[in-house]
Amino acid sequence: MVSYNDKTKYEVSRQVMIEHHLKGRGIHDKRVLEAMSEIPRQAFVPAKYTAQSYDDNPLPIGVGQTISQPYIVALMTQSLKLTGTEEVLEIGTGSGYQTAILATLAKQVYTVERFHELSESAQAVLAKLRIENIDYAIGDGSCGWQEEKQFDRIIITAAVPHIPEPLENQLKEGGLLVAPVGGQWAQDLIIAEKKNGQLQQETICGCRFVKLIGKHGYPE
Ligand code: SAM
Repeated sequence: MVSYNDKTKYEVSRQVMIEHHLKGRGIHDKRVLEAMSEIPRQAFVPAKYTAQSYDDNPLPIGVGQTISQPYIVALMTQSLKLTGTEEVLEIGTGSGYQTAILATLAKQVYTVERFHELSESAQAVLAKLRIENIDYAIGDGSCGWQEEKQFDRIIITAAVPHIPEPLENQLKEGGLLVAPVGGQWAQDLIIAEKKNGQLQQETICGCRFVKLIGKHGYPE
């Protein structure tokens, strides 16, 4: 991990990411662009990959998992239309980078990760960055948040064969859910709105994510 005092080292490459990879590909939500200008992605990337922190691709974070491509993080976040008042459930904490962006843009983030080592590392980085409006859980996020609760927004950051029913049930009426849905090698990124108790889905684009392993995801 890089020094947290070294705040300016990556500013130029972060601005290239904003202008070229995000604005240049249609990310227009000013709050999303501001959050991604502020959050140091290099803090979430393993030391041997920090030089590639602002390249527009996923990077390994250990245990066979990846930190998502910046464009996809921006696209998924933009599709959630966050205004600052929302409670957001995130399934797949991973490195914690997407969590940091969500926490900057929403009231509270509840995030679930299957691997304790990833959750603990993400918690350490987010604590150092003093991002505190986050509740963490370790376990199978395909079963939803551990307590009975409904959320304004849900984001699934790993591929699911279908929207897990417990997550559909934990989405508030009028709420939005974004997820990569499809086969284990390729998925559609979908945005769904809950209307009259039913999810109305639209496809945003094709994508490729690691699998969500769990009772309502893929088998191990
Ligand atoms: N958005 C994250 C980031 O910025 O680093 C990347 C998420 S990574 C593509 C997907 C994550 O989902 C992995 O960390 C993986 O361990 C986690 N995951 C897979 N199955 C899960 C499950 N059933 N419950 C919770 N997390 C799960």
